[in-house]
Amino acid sequence: MGLDWFGRHNRARTNGERVTRDTTRLLADLAEILPPDGLVTSDRALKVHETDGYVAQKGRAAAIARPRSTRQVRDVMRLCHLHGAPVVPRGSGTSQVGGVVPEDGAILISMARMKSVLEFDRNKGLIRVQAGITNLKVSKYAVRAGWFHAPNPSSRRTCTIGGNIATNSSGSSFLRYGGTADNLVAAHLVLDDGESIELSGDDPALALICGSEGQMGLVTEAQLRLHRIPESRMALVAGFATVRAALAFSQSALAQSDSLSALDLMDKRAVRLTEAFRPSDYPLGAEAIILAELSGPAASVDHQTNALASLAGRHDMITCRTSTDIQAIWSGRNAVYGAIGQRNNFLSLDCAVPLSQLQQQIEQSKLVAKDHALEVATVIHCGDGTVHSFLLFDPNDPDERSRADRCAVLIRSKAAGNGGSVSSEYGIGLRNRKALALQYSARSLKQQTDIVEAFSKERTLNPGKCFPEWMRGAS
Ligand SMILES: Cc1cc2nc3c(=O)[nH]c(=O)nc-3n(C[C@H](O)[C@H](O)[C@H](O)COP(=O)(O)OP(=O)(O)OC[C@H]3O[C@@H](n4cnc5c(N)ncnc54)[C@H](O)[C@@H]3O)c2cc1C
Repeated sequence: MGLDWFGRHNRARTNGERVTRDTTRLLADLAEILPPDGLVTSDRALKVHETDGYVAQKGRAAAIARPRSTRQVRDVMRLCHLHGAPVVPRGSGTSQVGGVVPEDGAILISMARMKSVLEFDRNKGLIRVQAGITNLKVSKYAVRAGWFHAPNPSSRRTCTIGGNIATNSSGSSFLRYGGTADNLVAAHLVLDDGESIELSGDDPALALICGSEGQMGLVTEAQLRLHRIPESRMALVAGFATVRAALAFSQSALAQSDSLSALDLMDKRAVRLTEAFRPSDYPLGAEAIILAELSGPAASVDHQTNALASLAGRHDMITCRTSTDIQAIWSGRNAVYGAIGQRNNFLSLDCAVPLSQLQQQIEQSKLVAKDHALEVATVIHCGDGTVHSFLLFDPNDPDERSRADRCAVLIRSKAAGNGGSVSSEYGIGLRNRKALALQYSARSLKQQTDIVEAFSKERTLNPGKCFPEWMRGAS
């Protein structure tokens, strides 16, 4: 049986007293309140749910609860609280950082069956959904009425709105529309003891749960702000002779164009891997390419796209094309994970640095990889400074794997040294716990855990994640 953060999870609570946790009893109690297919304990299912995209760590849950409603989530949470059992909320398990690796003996609450649209105000562009719906489904639902859901993590076909909220996800559209927190109007949160609260408007707790990685409560429903589908969209792909020239172009473009809705950079390695996997006519001779999307009224989009094309010509551009076929231009970029994963194993990082430090961060990351005889492919969101470094390694070579781990540590510390953050998209989970101390002082980390404890005093929700292990036992 695993211990939690404070070593408290192997205790159950009855009438205020603590007794040893009785998992068999808990499972029997859960089976009573859930329909027959609402509680899964088969070996096969538990094995599949041992980990997520971060396969380095695993844990075996005691059971997977599969509620259909907020009411059922409340009942499950209340029972787990009574038994002192840790609870791990799980969306689609696309976490790259071990965010849903259960502590041994925990109860996983899967949101897989909570994926309905509850309300849709087609005049105001507001949609209320159950938190297990996938990100892309929300846009697909709203598109007929002329709306879309803006935050677009690359995993949007699979990842859930609840997972997006818990990790405050974003994607290339962050530049124009912000991330999940910026588009969240209200959320229903079930607390560790089964009580539930509706958070809305300017309630500071609504912002706090964005990025709380399931430690403050389980989000069962969310109301999201949608955006009008723009009248016109254009995309531009330009190849540059150097990464420096591509970055210089991106910074001029940001200053010049208010129609930009996405601006990504891919280095040569990333371009070559994706072109071999999903050809998108990206220029193979370039050291870096920029993918830009512009949206808004047709006249200004046309005008600004042409202006950007001529601006590219002043920055060591090798080639540039524009297109209204947005899907075609982005298809290679959106296939990066698949393209790299097909050829190699990889560790993907999501550090972020101030825009002025991007060049330095890229150079340092490449140097670190070179010193460890590893290849690195780089994809950048130029609007918010997120640098995805994909460290490639052979899974059958344990030495390469450990060199990749060492590189990841060094690259994160470079990001912190460049005034940035060790993770901007994936969250902290298990993988980034230690690195967090590179970014925050012990005092700041303690303040953060104080906030978590204001919601879940005994820290039974997704225990062991988000904060460095040395904080175990601190209170
Ligand atoms: C190919 C690929 C591309 C990716 N690209 C991006 C990207 O561009 N941008 C980005 O931000 N991320 C990206 N990610 C990471 C991941 O997809 C996001 O973090 C996503 O938001 C996780 O959603 P999920 O439903 O899979 O959550 P899970 O992985 O199941 O869980 C993630 C965390 O959220 C918590 N959680 C899940 N549901 C709830 C809930 N209802 N209430 C409370 N807590 C909950 C979990 O406990 C865990 O801590 C990518 C991942 C992959 C595999």
